[in-house]
Amino acid sequence: MGKATRIRRIFQIVVFVAMGMLILRNVLGKTYNTPETYCPMGGLVSLYAFITGKTPPCSMSETNLVLFIAVLLLALLAKRSFCGWICPVGALGEWFGILGRKLEFNKNLPKKLEKSLRAIKYIILVLVLIFTVRIGELIYRGYDPYYALISLHGEDIGIISYISLGLVIVAAIIISMAFCRYLCPLAAFLNFPSRIGLIKIRRDEKSCTQCKMCDRACPLSIEVSNVERVVDGNCLNCLACVDACPEEGALRLEINGRWR
Ligand code: SF4
Ligand code: SF4
Repeated sequence: MGKATRIRRIFQIVVFVAMGMLILRNVLGKTYNTPETYCPMGGLVSLYAFITGKTPPCSMSETNLVLFIAVLLLALLAKRSFCGWICPVGALGEWFGILGRKLEFNKNLPKKLEKSLRAIKYIILVLVLIFTVRIGELIYRGYDPYYALISLHGEDIGIISYISLGLVIVAAIIISMAFCRYLCPLAAFLNFPSRIGLIKIRRDEKSCTQCKMCDRACPLSIEVSNVERVVDGNCLNCLACVDACPEEGALRLEINGRWR
């Protein structure tokens, strides 16, 4: 495991530990806050309520809105790093994707099918936004694997949420980060600012030997070896490709057009 991946793992584990502590403190009555208080997707779906002065759906608050804006700014700066470094569902998708690769279950779909499946998340995003505005409730809550993971459990969520979380894990074993690729509405939204992302991976054609180890390491199957810069909105800036590259300096981070 390369240095960048090791640091990223620490970030991901810290988020899981923080979530567990928050749930425990809530159960013990020491705080009203739950991991949902810090869900940026909650800020996105409540945006209309904050703009129009209406009551936000469920327990969404200004904290969700502030975090949503922070994640949006992060995407403009460093692409979808929130998904690659912080989001617990992203971490699960990646970890089980690695397990799938080790077990040799992991598959890459044909390009056309992959592209069509990736479009589903945009449809989900539009539906979630329309229904939340019309009904004023988070209608997807009962099926949301993210909510199944971060909720207080017990009576808080039903069996469907757990099935949905289980499917996310099984799907990730077959296709790394399948939920993030095809279904996550926050990923769909972030893909737009992420295309601008000032910090991105750049490949030096002179040093690159076309071994394609970067392509195989990418949890989202981005073909790094075919581009000079990774402008793809799906890029998590996870640096797995940089860690996997055997050629010194062939892959580096570019910050606003400058090599680092
Ligand atoms: S292109 Fe590199 S940095 Fe981007 S998601 Fe793939 S492995 Fe991570
Ligand atoms: S891993 Fe490095 S050398 Fe190999 S194809 Fe990717 S950029 Fe080129």
